[in-house]
Amino acid sequence: MSDHTGSDILVIGGGVIGLMTARELAATGAAVTLVEMGDTGQQASWAGGGILSPLYPWRFAGAVTALATWSQRVYPALCTELFESTGIDPEYNTSGLMILDPEEHAEARAWASAEHQSLTTLNPTQIRETEPGLQTGVRTALWLEDIGQVRNPRLTKALRVAIEPKVSIREHEEVLELRVKDGVVQGVRTRAGDIAAQRVVVCTGAWTAELLGKLGRKPDIHPVRGQMILFYAKPGQIRHLTLYRERYVIPRRDGRVLIGSTLEDAGFEKRTTAEAKEELYRIATELFPLLKRTPIEDHWAGLRPGSPSGIPYIGPYPGAEGLYVNAGHFRNGLVTGPASARLLADLLLGRDPILPASAYALDAARG
Ligand SMILES: Cc1cc2nc3c(=O)[nH]c(=O)nc-3n(C[C@H](O)[C@H](O)[C@H](O)COP(=O)(O)OP(=O)(O)OC[C@H]3O[C@@H](n4cnc5c(N)ncnc54)[C@H](O)[C@@H]3O)c2cc1C
Repeated sequence: MSDHTGSDILVIGGGVIGLMTARELAATGAAVTLVEMGDTGQQASWAGGGILSPLYPWRFAGAVTALATWSQRVYPALCTELFESTGIDPEYNTSGLMILDPEEHAEARAWASAEHQSLTTLNPTQIRETEPGLQTGVRTALWLEDIGQVRNPRLTKALRVAIEPKVSIREHEEVLELRVKDGVVQGVRTRAGDIAAQRVVVCTGAWTAELLGKLGRKPDIHPVRGQMILFYAKPGQIRHLTLYRERYVIPRRDGRVLIGSTLEDAGFEKRTTAEAKEELYRIATELFPLLKRTPIEDHWAGLRPGSPSGIPYIGPYPGAEGLYVNAGHFRNGLVTGPASARLLADLLLGRDPILPASAYALDAARG
């Protein structure tokens, strides 16, 4: 095992992946700098829903499930630790996930038994009892009572405050180029000048292919826009996460309710549309008529780092010693963040990895 204590590591990107990666690396005593082109935690990691499970989890590749399962185990303690050390509550909440009218009962059951996840089938009476405000004609639902959520904008705020004493954070500084000489990374060039580093970790979400493309080889990561709307209901009016035909409802503790989300191929155009707002409003109010009495408080869009089969790229960048990637988490960057960060740190520091890393390698087959 190699010892890199005190080494110089630069993390690019201050979303949940960059913040968690910097936190893992700084915990070893390494000198870590994080560079972010805007403010930390304001892109996909802010726009997301914070559901701590892949949607329809049985549909995902084992490589995604492994990261999600590992992370689900550590989330409660991580959130407690962040709250205690920063005073910012990421609002971890085991609100349970109800999936209405699923088609794949057998697949869901097989997945739950293999992954030791609690899953029960609800009849219409049980659906009504579980979520009294829900109005639906569906005959059955799957109930995953252990699934939790975090309030992701608060999670990233807490992460930032937690790492501040150990990590040098440089915001409003865009990395324009990765500097590689004779197959070895030297650092980066930013709008403010050069930053030297022996190791560089690219955590730039949807922008990753842009940055790495300049070196020749780029991972297959592209932006996938997602829009959400937000209502301000009363606390407790909606109790659980509900998923119906790819759209979901997320109740926060203070009564706010998020409805999402669209999946759109719109390049880097991060704007909201009237059509998406109407569609999300219709679904929300059909499922929960009580929301008709509640004004829409907000509507936003974010750019997910889309990747083939949603399997992130985690590991060394071939042909450039010292350069690493942790990106492409698509719809699951919040639920898979802790494991992705730990795995990257394991690989960079030469520790035994928490999970077999081959499925996440940059040249691994995906799709
Ligand atoms: C509507 C929506 C709903 C979602 N819901 C969920 C959910 O419920 N559960 C879940 O697990 N996931 C969810 N996701 C997905 C999740 O949000 C993402 O997978 C995750 O946030 C990706 O994190 P990231 O750090 O890679 O990307 P980001 O948060 O986008 O961070 C990347 C950062 O890199 C910075 N950057 C980029 N290029 C440069 C550069 N050249 N120089 C410096 N900085 C740079 C950016 O400014 C940005 O801050 C959702 C996403 C959306 C949009």
